[in-house]
Amino acid sequence: MIVLVVNAGSSSLKSQLIETEGKVCRMKCLAEKVGTDEAYMNVSFAPDFQKVTYNVAGLAVAQCLAKLLDIMSDDPESPISGLGQIDAIGNRIVAGGEYFTKAALIDDEARENLSKCEELAPLHNPAADACIDMMRKLMPETPQVAVFDTAFHTTMPPKAYMYPLPWRYYEQFHIRRYGAHGTSHRYAAQQAANLLGRPLRDLGLITCHLGNGGSITAVNHGKSIDTTMGFTPLEGLMMGTRSGSIDPAIVTYIMREEGKTFDEMDEILNRQSGILGISGVDSDMRDVLDAADAGNERAELAIDMYVYKIQKAIGSYYAAMTRTDAVVMTAGIGENSAKLRERIFAGLAHMGMILDKERNDFTGQIGANRIISIDDSPIRICVVTTDEEMRIARETDNLVSQLR
Ligand code: ADP
Repeated sequence: MIVLVVNAGSSSLKSQLIETEGKVCRMKCLAEKVGTDEAYMNVSFAPDFQKVTYNVAGLAVAQCLAKLLDIMSDDPESPISGLGQIDAIGNRIVAGGEYFTKAALIDDEARENLSKCEELAPLHNPAADACIDMMRKLMPETPQVAVFDTAFHTTMPPKAYMYPLPWRYYEQFHIRRYGAHGTSHRYAAQQAANLLGRPLRDLGLITCHLGNGGSITAVNHGKSIDTTMGFTPLEGLMMGTRSGSIDPAIVTYIMREEGKTFDEMDEILNRQSGILGISGVDSDMRDVLDAADAGNERAELAIDMYVYKIQKAIGSYYAAMTRTDAVVMTAGIGENSAKLRERIFAGLAHMGMILDKERNDFTGQIGANRIISIDDSPIRICVVTTDEEMRIARETDNLVSQLR
């Protein structure tokens, strides 16, 4: 099946054309800074993925997608000669609220429920919905599937997902914890079970998705029972530009002291905090690690705080589960930074998570799933390469095939 994966953000569009049988990617697209004068879109095709950059200034995210479809239809390098060759569309949706517990085919009812989820991820969901509507008009016969970041976490028990707020906020506004990165956590857990050679249902796993955004999930017998992100992806770990969990009274204090508006406060917490806010260097972990190596004390503190918060989250999920067999590291930082993995697990050896320095440092296998703990570590440590677009394509294929 040929699946077009669409991952629409507030100011970005990621898309891939994937042939699911052979698990091959035929087209990659990344549009960034969408909505600004500097907006651009890179498109590349298999086999050599030579990027061509297009100016998309002035276009909205859904219009960038329309432009991509034009390019795919017209470009002689394109793997398809017409949109009719696309069998299905897989849309990544950040928030599915309580309406969606698994991937869903987008019919009229699902589309209506998607609208109700927009307020839960106001930066992301509306852009994704606009893409869905555009595609429904343009390719009405092609099935579209929504794959949700939140779906994997719908197994959390009420004690994990409720906030201790007045009850009416749950009833009226559906304020509860939903989590995120679900596709990645589910995949990481399954891959770890494969590495351990045991069924997922027998295992207790702590999956750590550490990228620009970051979250940690307790996966007990294959089910998410708790995760660090909450009502929005702002809760939990310290991230590239997000504060993660802080004393909520700080928000009202700053707003009062500096007369900040709600939007300004959102901007401070989502885009000016975290690694960037503390280091003053950048949100990109590689740059912050370099700055710390060069003696920048704030960069070093940012890394120290980042590591400490991850250690505490892993420790708390060890306590939340009935057993812990492995900790799984995935996404940009989790997969690639041997240095940070070493710092994280240096503080966790007493809990039985013992890293093998050589296996951790080994770079020959980057991109391959592997175990990096010592042979008799009571709790294994795994590294898993995440591929969100491929996961979305596979889930789309599964659902569409079932319906046929
Ligand atoms: P996103 O959440 O946007 O999908 P990624 O999963 O690609 O992000 O992760 C991006 C983060 O991974 C960046 O902070 C980047 O610096 C970091 N990263 C990538 N490679 C390395 C590395 N070798 N060492 C340290 N950090 C890395």
